[in-house]
Amino acid sequence: MLGGSSISNYMFYVRGNPADYDDWAARGNTGWNWDNITYYYKKMERLEDDIIQKNSAARGRLGYLGVETIPWEHRTGSYFEIFEENGRKILKDHNGDEQLGYAPPQFSIADGIRQSTAAAYLKPIKNRPNIYILKNTIARKINFHDKKAKSVEVSLPDDSIINVLANKEIILSAGAINSPKILMLSGIGPKNHLEEMNIDIVQESTNVGQNLQDHVLVPVAITGNNNFTSILQNAETLINLNKFPIPTMLGFVSLNKSQNYPDYQTTVCPIPIASILSITLCSQMLDLDDSICIDVANANKRTELLLALITLLHPKSRGVIKLRSKDPEENPSIFTKYFSNEEDLEDFATYIEDYVTVINTTYFKSVNSKILDLNVKQCKDLQFGSRLFWKCYVLNLAGTQYHAVGTCAMGPEEEGVVDERLRVRGVKGLRVVDASIMPTVVSGNTNAPVIMIAEKASDLIKLDHGIVNST
Ligand SMILES: Cc1cc2nc3c(=O)[nH]c(=O)nc-3n(C[C@H](O)[C@H](O)[C@H](O)COP(=O)(O)OP(=O)(O)OC[C@H]3O[C@@H](n4cnc5c(N)ncnc54)[C@H](O)[C@@H]3O)c2cc1C
Repeated sequence: MLGGSSISNYMFYVRGNPADYDDWAARGNTGWNWDNITYYYKKMERLEDDIIQKNSAARGRLGYLGVETIPWEHRTGSYFEIFEENGRKILKDHNGDEQLGYAPPQFSIADGIRQSTAAAYLKPIKNRPNIYILKNTIARKINFHDKKAKSVEVSLPDDSIINVLANKEIILSAGAINSPKILMLSGIGPKNHLEEMNIDIVQESTNVGQNLQDHVLVPVAITGNNNFTSILQNAETLINLNKFPIPTMLGFVSLNKSQNYPDYQTTVCPIPIASILSITLCSQMLDLDDSICIDVANANKRTELLLALITLLHPKSRGVIKLRSKDPEENPSIFTKYFSNEEDLEDFATYIEDYVTVINTTYFKSVNSKILDLNVKQCKDLQFGSRLFWKCYVLNLAGTQYHAVGTCAMGPEEEGVVDERLRVRGVKGLRVVDASIMPTVVSGNTNAPVIMIAEKASDLIKLDHGIVNST
C-alpha cells in the first residue's frame, strides 16, 4: 500500500526522547541532536486539538501530518490518578518538554482520517508534474557505473523488467527489512555474505543488514472492579467504530530517578467488563495462544482488566537481515536475536516488577486486584511473580512491536552504512531514508521519527543540489 507501515500501524504518535537523538549525534552524526531535529518535528506536525498544549513552543501547527488526542478522560482519568499515587508523573503532552511519566497518547489522525504518509504527504501534491508513482512495482536492485548509482531495476505489474534512470540521485526507502536487502542485491554489503550469494561486489560494507533492533513487548493484565456499569463502555466502543477503539494511556518510565530518558514504555488499556476487546487484543493483535486468550476472556467476564503492554525501550540485543538468495523476489531471512544479550531479559523482568507495583495503590487494593496469571505452560512450575517466573513469562510471551530499525545505520566511516547526510558510504548518488538509518532505536514508537528523518533528508537533498541555501 502507498505509505508503507504508516497505512496499517496503530497510529501512536511519539517523538522519542531528546537523549536518543543527542546520542546519535554523539556517535558522530552531526546535525541529528535534539535541538536540530525538533525543527523537523515542528515542521511536520499539525496539532489538531486543544488538549495537546498548543501554546508549547516545542510543537508544530502548520505541518502536513495531523496529530490529535482522543477525549477519553471519562475512561482513563481515574487510572491516571492511580498511576500518580504509584509515584508516576502525569503529563498532558509526552511530546513536549518532558517525556517521563504517564500521558494521554497522541495519534497521527486528523478529522477521523488516518494520517498515513500517503494521505498526509502524497495526496496534497499528487497533481504536481514532477512526481510519478509506479504502483504494484517491485524495486529489484540498483545499477552502478563506476560506483555511481545510475538506475533502479524494477519489475512492473505485467512482470516486465525495466531500468528507471536517475538524473541526480536515487533514494532507497524500503524499510528496515528490505532496504538492506536491496543494497545487498545491488552489491553493497558484507563481503563474505555477498560472495556466498554469488553477487558481484560494488562496495564492501560490513554493517549492511547488521544492527537490527526492535522493540519487544509483553502483556501484563491486572484485574479490577467487577461492577457491571462499565459494560456500557462496550456499547460506546461498538457504536464508535470510526474512532480508535481502545482508550489508552502511554507511560514512559525510568527506574533511576535522576535519568532523563525512559527504560520502558507502557501502553495501558482499561478494558471494561465482558468486552470483546480482551479477546481481540490477546488473539488478533498479540497473537497469543488460544489457551491464554481463553483465560483472559474468562477473567474479563468477571472483572475489568487493566491490560498493559510493556516495552523494553533500549534492547542491547542485535539481530541481522540476510539474503536467502540473489533472487529479488525472495524475502530475506530475519534473525531477530531477541534476548541474545542476557541483560535484556534481566532488565525486562525488572521493568515488569516495577510496573506491577501499581497493584499496591488504594484503588487496586480496594477491589482486591490480582495480576492475572496467564497460565503460560512453560512457566507453570515456577513461583508466580518470582524473578525466574517473570523471565520465563517474558521469554514465552514477548512479541514484536514492529519497530525494526538500524540495518543501514548512519554512523562514522568505520561503521556507518550511510553518513550523516544519509548518503551510502563508498558509492555516489544513493541515499537511504527510512527506519533502517537509525543507529539506535528511539524511546518510543518509530513512525514519527521516520517521518522526521524524511523531512530532514528532503532538506539535505535540496541543500546538496543547491536548491536551497541552508537548512
Ligand atoms: C502493525 C504495525 C503497527 C505499528 N504501530 C505503530 C504505531 O502505533 N506508532 C508508530 O509510531 N509506529 C508504529 N509502527 C512502526 C512504524 O509504522 C514504522 O516504524 C514505520 O512506518 C517504518 O517506516 P519505513 O518508511 O522505514 O518503512 P515502511 O513503512 O515499511 O515502508 C517501506 C515501504 O517500502 C516498500 N517496499 C519494500 N520493499 C520494496 C521493493 N523491493 N520494491 C518496492 N517497494 C518496496 C514497502 O511496500 C513499504 O511501502 C507499527 C508498525 C507495524 C507494522
